Amino acid sequence: MNTPLIDPFARPISYLRVSVTDRCDFRCVYCMAENMTFLPKAELLTLEELDRLCSTFIRLGVRKLRVTGGEPLVRKGIMTFFRTMKRHLDSGALDELTLTTNGSQLGRFAQELVDCGVRRVNVSLDTLDEAKFARITRWGRLSQVLDGIEAAQRAGLRVKINAVALKGVNEDELFEMVEWCAARDMDLTFIEVMPMGDLGEEDRIDQFWSLRDLRAQLSGTYTLHDLAERTGGPASYVRLQETGSKVGFITPLTHNFCESCNRVRVTCTGELFMCLGQEDRADLRAPLRASSDDGALERAIREAISRKPRGHDFDYSRQHVAGQVSRHMSHTGG
Ligand code: SAM
Ligand code: SF4
Repeated sequence: MNTPLIDPFARPISYLRVSVTDRCDFRCVYCMAENMTFLPKAELLTLEELDRLCSTFIRLGVRKLRVTGGEPLVRKGIMTFFRTMKRHLDSGALDELTLTTNGSQLGRFAQELVDCGVRRVNVSLDTLDEAKFARITRWGRLSQVLDGIEAAQRAGLRVKINAVALKGVNEDELFEMVEWCAARDMDLTFIEVMPMGDLGEEDRIDQFWSLRDLRAQLSGTYTLHDLAERTGGPASYVRLQETGSKVGFITPLTHNFCESCNRVRVTCTGELFMCLGQEDRADLRAPLRASSDDGALERAIREAISRKPRGHDFDYSRQHVAGQVSRHMSHTGG
């Protein structure tokens, strides 16, 4: 029997988010520069290494695995990874296998994802306006994403829409987005935009729109019922009485959820981040590559979890351009 991963604050680690690529077919302005230099292939974990890594976390108590990126569905051979992860669903070791995607490849892969045991997907969609969509994603086509969402629903996947709240960009679509999602039986979660220090100023869209303000706008039209459900992450949810649909709010800069934090994340190069808001990390690629036996990997994971901090301090003075941060932090109340 393997002792499960429990951090120094008695929080069991049951949720792993793993990035499988740094590449993407979009260039969303708040996420990437247009001319990105991507990592050489040798830096990335191979599909076999990703399998060993995730399987080890699952053996140590992870029950929910979210695949992300970059765009996970542009990683070559990624369906092989999903197919092999299915064994953990079949054995009952894993409760949920899911992914966050921009939706562009769902038309191709939705059915296969269902066959691999995926039941839900998060699709990022900030606007229903074609021109705005092109401006935000630079390279994306709205119709392709809408077709992907339709294909996902046809295949039986539950779809949740994630929208980054952008003042002056999708603010005027708030009610349209809510109604559009409700009509399609999709939950909708808004994400507060996080300042990204290293993107050029050119055509950036990161206008901060406080979710407190967004929520106040919603409550002018709908009756909001707070839902008790917490996911261990930075999301809270309400049910809209009039539509019956669920709306979520993700405020990554607040830290009122840290005490229930059950999650860690691994980058596509095998760096384990124990906390969303802190830079401390552990290299899991070296132990993965040092031996085909998972003992060293397991020890590295345990050592890292023993360093998981109580909460994040978002000390942006170290990580980001100070001016941007103080602006955003002042909006969020620090
Ligand atoms: N490519 C996939 C997608 O777009 O869903 C998965 C990776 S993407 C980095 C994951 C989520 O992060 C997306 O919902 C995206 O909107 C969000 N995101 C990216 N940059 C952000 C930022 N600066 N602030 C807030 N959310 C951001
Ligand atoms: Fe970033 Fe996702 Fe947009 Fe790609 S689709 S640029 S990973 S937010």
